[in-house]
Amino acid sequence: MIESPLLEKLTGYIGGRWTDSSQGNTFDVYNPATGEVIAKVPSMPEADVVAAVAAGKSALRLTSPYTLETRRKWLEGIRDALKNNKEEVGRILCMEHGKPLKEAQGEVDYAAGFFDYCSKHIQALDAHTLTEKPKDCTWTVHYRPIGVAGLITPWNFPIGMIAKKLSAALAAGCPSVIKPASETPLTMIALFSLIDKHVDMPDGMVNLVMGKASVIGKVLCESPDVPMLSFTGSTEVGRKLVVDTAEQVKKLALELGGNAPFIVFDDADLDSAADNLIANKFRGGGQTCVCANRIFVHEKVAEAFGEKLAERVNRMTVGDGLKEDVDLGPLINKAGFDKVKRHLEDALANGASLVAGKKPEDLGDGHLFFPPTVITDVNREMCCYREETFGPLVPMALFRTEEEVIDAGNDTEFGLASYVFTNDAERAQRVAAGLRFGHVGWNTGTGPTPEAPFGGMKASGIGREGGLEGLFEFVEAQTVPRGF
Ligand code: NAP
Repeated sequence: MIESPLLEKLTGYIGGRWTDSSQGNTFDVYNPATGEVIAKVPSMPEADVVAAVAAGKSALRLTSPYTLETRRKWLEGIRDALKNNKEEVGRILCMEHGKPLKEAQGEVDYAAGFFDYCSKHIQALDAHTLTEKPKDCTWTVHYRPIGVAGLITPWNFPIGMIAKKLSAALAAGCPSVIKPASETPLTMIALFSLIDKHVDMPDGMVNLVMGKASVIGKVLCESPDVPMLSFTGSTEVGRKLVVDTAEQVKKLALELGGNAPFIVFDDADLDSAADNLIANKFRGGGQTCVCANRIFVHEKVAEAFGEKLAERVNRMTVGDGLKEDVDLGPLINKAGFDKVKRHLEDALANGASLVAGKKPEDLGDGHLFFPPTVITDVNREMCCYREETFGPLVPMALFRTEEEVIDAGNDTEFGLASYVFTNDAERAQRVAAGLRFGHVGWNTGTGPTPEAPFGGMKASGIGREGGLEGLFEFVEAQTVPRGF
């Protein structure tokens, strides 16, 4: 079992108090590197989620909102608590997710960055009066907190994803009811432990519930006291939330799946493109929404690029993320492992060839360590091209023309992240404008940052997190014209 000063309580948190499941049920949390159960946490019934919503409602202040200064202090408090406890939060994250320790600790810094950004820009949420006086009135625009927000997060960034949502919700003055993914609730408990100890916030401002997604999701979708849901996860669940909240016309912020194209033109710096692809693709074991899922390489440089990837991949170390010098941890669970294996089998059976990695029959059983794998001659009929693989498989497809590769890049219902490598600035501009993706990296495989808006087009989502756009997600503009 995991031991940590940040996990002295292993319960939910409602109305400012650590709260166990009222029915006493629990579920197991595993370390994917060892297969061991490292904690048991409460599986909370509907009544507990209803209590969390009520606690949030009691903390909501509409007629005398928390001042900007008060909210800034909350944000700074969480930022500082995360920074001061980065090692321990990162260790917990590493143990329940599996990503390398340094990467896990880097995610804590990334998370702190969202609280920092919102604290520094919170003034943008202040009311302002228009300089124009149309209709003989003075017009003031207020940014009101939308109300109690349901925040639902995935397992792939156990602290990063909640930071994006919670920072903007608190900046707006919105209480929240938070549901972490069932694979990774411990990092969230650690965050609540830090908030409980170090941040002076009203009871009910942040509430933590854990357990069955169907039970918690139902309350959050159906309660009239929760006017907004902010969800990061699969497009499949996102679609369900759209349907389940339609009756009440709830506000939704959805960060959903991706199928990122990574395009390498023949004039690109191939070493830099290969380095960027490795960093982008293998972060989190290839289990990120922004990681390259289809690698389009110009046919003239495909062989050379494949060799560069193979060289790099063959140097990587796979293992328990807690050990030093591990580049790639385990996949999150057996379903995740089996999906990557299925994609590899399907591609090889349909004409792709292995450039680096192991054949499916050599992968072994009873563990979740999938080696970094590169295949080439991939086409649009293959599962790895059409679906999000969510694992360390690099599938290369060849192309000839700019037009063809823009069409191929867009040949997906998703529109989250994309990347283009070329030294021709005009071409880069044309390709970026042609790609229907919320994020287009030009000669970089970097993903989101707290300072810039990030989010999906098409079936990859609604809304933005990060930047000023993200800061405004949890407020509603209210316009007050005053007659003379
Ligand atoms: P998921 O299965 O959709 O789950 C995400 C969260 O939703 C979990 O907390 C899950 O709870 C919960 N959930 C499941 N069914 C629900 C329901 N009916 N009502 C309410 N909540 C429900 O996704 P995942 O496997 O954790 O994450 C991987 C996916 O997230 C990938 O598709 C990835 O691309 C996407 N993602 C997108 C972004 C982005 O910024 N766009 C970032 C990260 C990840 P349980 O864990 O209890 O099932």
